[in-house]
Amino acid sequence: MAAATATPTSASSTLSTERIDVFWHDGMLSHDTGTGVFDTGMDPGFLDVLEKHPENSDRIKNMVSILKRGPISPYISFHLGTPALVSEVLTFHSSEYIDKLIAVAEDRYAEKMLCAGTFLNPGSWDASLLAAGTTLSAMRHILNGHGKLAYALVRPPGHHAQPIQADGYCFLNNAGLAVQLALDSGCRKAAVIDIDVHYGNGTAQGFYQSNKVLTISLHMNHGSWGPSHPQNGSVDELGEGEGFGYNLNIPLPNGTGDKGYQYAMKELVAPAIQKFEPDMIVLVIGQDSSAFDPNGRQCLTMDGYRDIGQKVRVLADRHSGGRLLIVQEGGYHVTYSAYCLHATLEGVLNLPLPLLSDPIAYYPEEEAFAIKVIESIKKYQKESVSFLKEA
Ligand SMILES: [Zn+2]
Repeated sequence: MAAATATPTSASSTLSTERIDVFWHDGMLSHDTGTGVFDTGMDPGFLDVLEKHPENSDRIKNMVSILKRGPISPYISFHLGTPALVSEVLTFHSSEYIDKLIAVAEDRYAEKMLCAGTFLNPGSWDASLLAAGTTLSAMRHILNGHGKLAYALVRPPGHHAQPIQADGYCFLNNAGLAVQLALDSGCRKAAVIDIDVHYGNGTAQGFYQSNKVLTISLHMNHGSWGPSHPQNGSVDELGEGEGFGYNLNIPLPNGTGDKGYQYAMKELVAPAIQKFEPDMIVLVIGQDSSAFDPNGRQCLTMDGYRDIGQKVRVLADRHSGGRLLIVQEGGYHVTYSAYCLHATLEGVLNLPLPLLSDPIAYYPEEEAFAIKVIESIKKYQKESVSFLKEA
């Protein structure tokens, strides 16, 4: 037997899981973020065509349809999500904040813009509870042993929502709630790998003082964007108290593409997961790290997303018994986001050959600069974080 000769079938036959359970509910489409100049909700009066807010239902409709009708569909099982209870969202958020959201949702005369670009319109609160509950359903599916790979296809997104405030199109922190459920259900340690192009500040903030949750975020170096987002996402925001060292920020220079992300995954993410030894991994995905996203300045292509999916699957198989929850965040190009999602899930399934080719030409990246920055982050983290120093 020529065991070393990898054929397409032998590559996939080494895996125990061949399908991904996708959790979804079309009630999440009823979150209407409106139109205007980009995400402002404003009509300046001199444009004939106003675009939809970038976080609109079209982007998600294409994600649903590509998984239902794209070449990956034989590997996908759809499950219906259910809304979260208010008592469940209080496991991550303060009661003052949730009371405020409910009051805004109930009062049709109230200010609906909670912070820049973030609108709680009629239908938004029910959609938010559905997004949170659908993510909890997906995590519960894994925790109950019904499957190892689950994907919560949700909106509104969640990773900017902090325990006490909304931020960046997010109201409830879907991934944070799922991590807390995992801990409350007996998981010792959970790791979050966030590849949305923006800093996963809300999730980081929720577990900032915990050594049971390792939050890792790869993002463009956008810094703070106002009172709703006071965090900078810089390398020195490492956590506090017992949690010091358990928030690893990887701010990548603008233009970082497939090779830069591959290098960061290999040099920073994989060693941190290996040393942390989580028993649950949550991959937080945003297709706004793609080369064609209006909200991002990074250059990932479908190949890059596929590679990240493969690498995270390897980490899950090695460290968390294959248990991997994927949670949807941003990604605003209505077509390419769906294609990049398809590629990511192909990677997670470790399918030997790409099922879908990239419809948009490759975009060049500044590889050498990205690698230099990643090396400097590695040096800083090794000097500052005690669990990374251990052999
Ligand atoms: Zn984002």
